Amino acid sequence: MKTIDELLRQGVEGKRVFVRADLNVPQDGTTITDDGRIRAVLPTVKALAEAGAKVVVASHLGRPKGAPDPAFTLRFAASRLGELLGRPVAFAGDTIGSEAHSAVAGLENGQVAVLENLRFNPGETSKDDAERAEFAARLAALADVYVGDGFGAVHRGHASVYDLPRLLPAYAGYLIATEVGVLRKLTDDVRRPYVVVLGGAKVSDKLGVIDHLLEKADRILIGGGMAYTFLKAKGHEVGISLLQEDQVPACLEYLARAEKKGVEFVLPVDVLVSSEFPDLKTKAPAHPTLVASDAIPADQEGLDIGPETRKLYASKLADAATVFWNGPMGVFEHPDYAEGTKAVAQALVDSPAFTVVGGGDSAAAVRTLGFDEEAFGHISTGGGASLEYLEGKTLPGLAALED
Ligand code: ADP
Ligand code: MG
Repeated sequence: MKTIDELLRQGVEGKRVFVRADLNVPQDGTTITDDGRIRAVLPTVKALAEAGAKVVVASHLGRPKGAPDPAFTLRFAASRLGELLGRPVAFAGDTIGSEAHSAVAGLENGQVAVLENLRFNPGETSKDDAERAEFAARLAALADVYVGDGFGAVHRGHASVYDLPRLLPAYAGYLIATEVGVLRKLTDDVRRPYVVVLGGAKVSDKLGVIDHLLEKADRILIGGGMAYTFLKAKGHEVGISLLQEDQVPACLEYLARAEKKGVEFVLPVDVLVSSEFPDLKTKAPAHPTLVASDAIPADQEGLDIGPETRKLYASKLADAATVFWNGPMGVFEHPDYAEGTKAVAQALVDSPAFTVVGGGDSAAAVRTLGFDEEAFGHISTGGGASLEYLEGKTLPGLAALED
């Protein structure tokens, strides 16, 4: 993989450099609630601008349906990027149209423009190769060089991630280079004990990684919405908890395989339950009940791990040499269900292990719950991307930078 350092050595003065970033940040109306992903691309954008490039930054945000949708504009992310860079950033209200062309044409050396959301164009995510290729060709007309730095999107075979880097000289930015370096440490020869903590809500997306981790990890701790499909597989009542019924057989197989391989597979022993999902807007007190994990009432749902589980998981993390954590332990957005996630974050902070946090919500949780990012070995900007890397899959956006 050629990196941006090589590009900088060749010189970029006056060149139009297309930076495929991941500015897909959580927003509440016009306010960005966590700007971690914007900060993550700063080293690349800064280095290019300081070297005199004309920097064209592009990204997706959310899942608009292939047409402009003001709910998913990148305008606010663009102005945050400008604040963080400490220099004005031009914003084009389209991606391949007249605004994009005039914004790019108007750039002086060292200036930065941000294009509107790539997914406002159906070509970005199209499954039709020709449609994607056409969009990629139009993007290519805006630049001389491509720098891939949107790690959170490298598992997508999208036009700006997969097709465009084949049309221009392509390099990996600092973020992608760092992320890949860290994930290599988790796959090549990992220091043991290697403990993996999995949680969150996207259960079916994440079960695949367990299949692979059973060959790699020494211990797997399960929390969050994930846990209930496993508890169900063990024959427990899970009430109205998040459940992926069709995955119960897979969970049973994983439990059996873990036992055979001597991988310690740990499930919650107690959980906080309630008959209703908490109000994340008002944060009104939720008054949860604490129950053993094999005694969830049929009309209630599990929303966080309980205090015994927190202690248990902290002890299972204490002697780790390497930790990978993906997915919050509970609905951490509400203070009554944040303690489980806090306890795992604290255990990682206290641990001398090499700790990696992956996942958009997990990374946001670490920051919004007030932890110091520096206390972790690495906080990945890509949830799906880091999981697919650990699963051993070929990531289209990385493969495109290898060629
Ligand atoms: P990440 O983005 O870190 O990969 P996910 O997107 O899979 O994580 O899941 C994050 C979401 O999971 C959070 O919004 C959190 O509220 C939710 N969550 C955690 N535990 C539960 C639970 N027990 N029931 C429902 N949702 C949960
Ligand atoms: Mg998420």
